[in-house]
Amino acid sequence: MEETNNKVPNFIRTIIEEDLRTKKTERVITRFPPEPNGYLHIGHAKSICLNFGMAAEFNGRCHLRFDDTNPTKEEDEYVQSIMEDVRWLGFDWGRHLYYASDYFDQLYDYAVHLIKTEKAYVCDLSPDEIREYRGTLTGPGKNSPFRDRSVEENLDLFARMRAGEFPNGTRTLRARIDMASPNLNMRDPVIYRILHAKHHRTGAKWCIYPTYDFTHCISDALEEITHSICTLEFEDHRPLYDWVLDQLPVPCHPQQIEFARLNLTYTMMSKRRLLALVQEKLVSGWDDPRMPTLSGMRRRGYTPKAIRDFSERIGVAKRDSMVDVQLLEYCLREDLNKVAPRRMAVLRPLRVVLHNYPEGQTEELPAINNPEDPSMGTRNVPFSRVLYIEQEDFREDPPKKFFRLAPGQEVRLRYAYFIRCVDVIKDKKSGEITELHCTYDPATRGGDAPDGRKVRGTLHWVSADHSVPAQVRLYDHLFTLPDLAEIPEGKDFRDYLNPQSLQVLSDCYVEPQLADVSPYEHFQFERQGYFNVDPSSKKGALVFNRSVSLKDTWAKIEKQNTES
Ligand code: ATP
Ligand code: MG
Repeated sequence: MEETNNKVPNFIRTIIEEDLRTKKTERVITRFPPEPNGYLHIGHAKSICLNFGMAAEFNGRCHLRFDDTNPTKEEDEYVQSIMEDVRWLGFDWGRHLYYASDYFDQLYDYAVHLIKTEKAYVCDLSPDEIREYRGTLTGPGKNSPFRDRSVEENLDLFARMRAGEFPNGTRTLRARIDMASPNLNMRDPVIYRILHAKHHRTGAKWCIYPTYDFTHCISDALEEITHSICTLEFEDHRPLYDWVLDQLPVPCHPQQIEFARLNLTYTMMSKRRLLALVQEKLVSGWDDPRMPTLSGMRRRGYTPKAIRDFSERIGVAKRDSMVDVQLLEYCLREDLNKVAPRRMAVLRPLRVVLHNYPEGQTEELPAINNPEDPSMGTRNVPFSRVLYIEQEDFREDPPKKFFRLAPGQEVRLRYAYFIRCVDVIKDKKSGEITELHCTYDPATRGGDAPDGRKVRGTLHWVSADHSVPAQVRLYDHLFTLPDLAEIPEGKDFRDYLNPQSLQVLSDCYVEPQLADVSPYEHFQFERQGYFNVDPSSKKGALVFNRSVSLKDTWAKIEKQNTES
């Protein structure tokens, strides 16, 4: 994989370098541990790039581990999509694919070990009572009346929990730590709960399931993870992570390191809420191009390289912050500018008839595929008497400094000729402009006047007879609120959906070169932006998604920042 050249210092890299130098770590082993209860999003991409990136950088390895201890919310569809997305981003876990559910037997044995060493007990309090007994941030908790059961009784009850003798919620296995600990996570946390539910991998084998806190650290230890990188909300869980491992004969004791999760403006990243968008059909699916999911971004036209570049640029911090979504768009433009062939497409067509152009004549005019990369060569674009230009490129009553087409005004058609507007044809009833009559100057072929005459505007165009119809979908932010954590009381994210987030243009015309494109191909439509072929697109029924516009406010912001 091509390396990004935008390495930003990050404190996790510093820790790893130090651990390798002092030989605390021989070989770096990290893991990416998604719960298969939804599709991956751009926040996960940060974690994937960090975990796989650090492993690659230090010649270690990164495991993909499904953290699947919550059978009611997990599905194989999610497992498959997660694997596809991680691969698409360009990472490879090799043979190191794991499932926490593969450790269920071992986890059970470790739980029994805790019981035998009096570090765990079966508790009959209900979930509500457990909460009540837990105490508050300012006041200590109370011991459960079941805390001092004998080892024998605990072993017997735990075996019977496993055997399915008790209904959901009637008993739990709890770690016996300290109900007065200032850290609520240490107040005898539940490590097993009864859940009569089928699991996507283990089927009906289990009716008790280990909790995240118990499972995660042990899974890390069994896989001999060296650096267990997670997001900040787990900082308060670290003492529990360490406590569990300290009680058990595990092969090693990985180091948990927390970093700030990615927050992006106008972007919602809670899987639960993304699921609601899908279930309530507020979007077309997990891969709706407006979704921040990797499958949505892929469909929108994001490239793995742009996402990896973004992940590197945002760096890794210890404090939460908000990243401007324009940085993400900037990274996409940077990549596509180099690789996307240029094409001409007219999104809102206006017919132009060239009076003095011979009827029935066609010319093939050479056009450059990518000015950034001469090796991409040229193509021929057909030119004829009837053309389409963009409606917004004509004004009957132009304001000052409108350098595009207007009555009497002359412009250049890209790679073609100068044309001058001589007449405006309107619909008699509606008064709408239906057609422009223009003349062309045969001496300006290729775009320059031999007499040195200048024009201020250059327009894109397609030939009416040769162009191909297409549908184009334009996207804007899915939400109108920059910070989705700041939804006021009494409102929810549904109140902030952007009604303009999708605009479908069904009468577009694209140059004939685009007739045979394949899904996910990228193009720059000149003057319009970067577009991607939608997977639903077919020959004869082309569909393009605008990945990102050309306008780059981020580059300006960055320039201002460096100048000031
Ligand atoms: P939830 O806990 O709501 O299911 P989650 O996004 O934490 O959501 P996981 O599947 O547990 O889901 O996440 C897998 C990994 O991705 C975790 O290590 C998590 O810390 C990391 N991750 C999730 N969201 C972000 C984010 N916004 N920025 C960085 N890392 C993230
Ligand atoms: Mg999580």
